[in-house]
Amino acid sequence: MLMQESVADREIFSRLAIQPPDALLGLIGLYRADRRPGKIDLGVGVFRDDAGRTPVMRAVKAGEAKLLRDQESKSYLGAEGDIRFVELLAEVAFGAGADRPVGIQTPGGTGALRLGAELIARSRPDATVWIGTPTWPNHAPIFREAGMMTRTHRFYDVASAAIDFDGMIEDLREAKAGDVLLLHGCCHNPTGADLNSAQWQEIGLLCARRALVPFIDLAYQGLGDALEADAAGMRGLLDMLPEALVAYSCDKNFGLYRERVGALWVQSGAAELVRSNMLALARSLWSMPPDHGAAVTRLVLEDDALRADWVSELDAMRARINELRSVLAASHPRLAAIGDQRGMFALLPLTPEAVDALRRDHGIYMAGNGRINIAGLTLETVPAFVAALASYL
Ligand code: PMP
Repeated sequence: MLMQESVADREIFSRLAIQPPDALLGLIGLYRADRRPGKIDLGVGVFRDDAGRTPVMRAVKAGEAKLLRDQESKSYLGAEGDIRFVELLAEVAFGAGADRPVGIQTPGGTGALRLGAELIARSRPDATVWIGTPTWPNHAPIFREAGMMTRTHRFYDVASAAIDFDGMIEDLREAKAGDVLLLHGCCHNPTGADLNSAQWQEIGLLCARRALVPFIDLAYQGLGDALEADAAGMRGLLDMLPEALVAYSCDKNFGLYRERVGALWVQSGAAELVRSNMLALARSLWSMPPDHGAAVTRLVLEDDALRADWVSELDAMRARINELRSVLAASHPRLAAIGDQRGMFALLPLTPEAVDALRRDHGIYMAGNGRINIAGLTLETVPAFVAALASYL
């Protein structure tokens, strides 16, 4: 017995605890196994077209063909990734001719968030990261795994389907100088509730007054109102403040999900210091980011015709989402706010029991907190969806 215990204790992984599985991946399995013809998948957060597909975008396909034809080497780039990709994407994010923060390519928005978290932790390990509730479930773990403290502030009130801005400001009274404020640039996940320009302005003043550093997560530019409009809040904040971080994902607006395409930008008076530490951290995290998706994004952005085609396909994706939003909003008074909210997601005022019942009795699949992916609907399925939903609203 004694010996057995000591053997178990010697095993390197014996002290780990089982982690909860990813709930959305579990949902995919349940959905696949469901044989009902009218089942509806509103779970996983990817864009879907009218036929339920998540297509490779036309311009991306063309960029990939070009890459396959012309790429002469797959030799290493550097920890900064594809520099031209970062430059061209900076124009999309910050506007042509705007001052550019220091930026490097990262593996998706997740990589950008993690790299930013590591950078802050290296310089200010005692800073707290303030995160609104609810948020993307990966936000808090990304910062905590980098060793940072996190606290939450109120953001969205499900009952009134609106941002609780006063609650947010009140909770942030406890933030101290040097703390970090995580903000969704647009298309808030999971609520679809975006800050208006007056609220962005107020947050800018608050950050300036209290020396808080915003960390903006921009993962859906172009899927809300328009490419430029979706970046306006972030750009305004960068104009008001000396320091800020921006984590960018191309995985939704270029439909590149599994290729892992993103960038981290940092606005700072100590640009060279920041850059050298970003590169050193990236070296130890992933050495260099995957190339394919970023190379394709560069080819799309540097070719006028491909870029125009990308913008028009993105416009069509957004139009589809926003048409579904209007139809949903008009279909039930408790869904009215969905018409003014933006992006792929909405958070329905449902109990976990109602979410289970919708799956069991109606074949409607959504995240356990009541988040739906609006792009999982079509104009044909909305009536059945709303009819099933109505008794739980
Ligand atoms: N931020 C938010 C708000 C997201 O919803 C997501 C993706 N679900 C990400 C970041 C990460 O994006 P990526 O897949 O590029 O890592």
